[in-house]
Amino acid sequence: MKRQFNYAFVILSFISSASAWSACLNSGVQIQILGSGGPADSGGRASASYIIWINGVSRIMLDTGSGTKDQFYRSGANLDDIELVALSHLHPDHSVELPGILWPAGGRFDIAGPSGANVFPSIGEFLERLFGPRGAYHVLDERIELTPITVDVTSPDPVEVWRAADIVIQGRGVPHGDVPTIGYRLNIGGSSIAFASDQTGSDPTFTDFIRGVDVLVIHMSSTEDATGLISELHAKPSVWGQMAADADAGHLVVSHIASSSVANAPFSPQVLNQSLAFLTKNYSGPITVGEDLLCIEVN
Ligand SMILES: [Zn+2]
Ligand SMILES: [Zn+2]
Repeated sequence: MKRQFNYAFVILSFISSASAWSACLNSGVQIQILGSGGPADSGGRASASYIIWINGVSRIMLDTGSGTKDQFYRSGANLDDIELVALSHLHPDHSVELPGILWPAGGRFDIAGPSGANVFPSIGEFLERLFGPRGAYHVLDERIELTPITVDVTSPDPVEVWRAADIVIQGRGVPHGDVPTIGYRLNIGGSSIAFASDQTGSDPTFTDFIRGVDVLVIHMSSTEDATGLISELHAKPSVWGQMAADADAGHLVVSHIASSSVANAPFSPQVLNQSLAFLTKNYSGPITVGEDLLCIEVN
């Protein structure tokens, strides 16, 4: 069933964000958005990053885009509680702040990320170049232990990335130009979350991978009329809506909002609303427009 774009719902989502972060300390599974913006002018939003809270503990972090470190501390998350940092890909707006986040840390972390290709190193090479003996931030190596988990983005089947007693995380490669990129699915107890990451939405097997998730987080960086590089890297809003509908996602979270029709144009709320109108032509379920520090309850 299709429905008209619900402007009031979007407004409500913006309003609800202002005081929502404290809700992350409650029980259950929650996603907290640390950064809801993209690589360029995103209207004051930090770049991509998320915390998964489980029963009030900040256990998993996905992506570490610019602005993430300050948002991490605003969220109330605790470095000592982070067990896994899962990077979707090595574009700066998803990975650049990893050293800044780890700088005050101690102990060990699992760091998941993609296999390498083209100009992009594998996650292991990336960590080695940052923190290894010849790395720029080798000083951190004295007190942190990082274990890279390499996700083969060329695998035709989903790959198990990480597992704990109550958590199973799988990943699979998604089409994002020539950039090795992972979409993640997290099953936590009876809850499920998918992070579609940056992608064009052109691989139907990804829809199979995320089918039936309680919450789907998408990265809406392209407008409906985008051409050139943006359209080669990012799905159009209508494509995201179709993916969410085909996957029967219970709740759609729109993030990585850099709403402009060309790269580096100023952020525009009007363009964002136009994009949401295209998206909601194809998806009729509940939508939350992401805001930094917003918490989203998962079922
Ligand atoms: Zn991005
Ligand atoms: Zn990207």
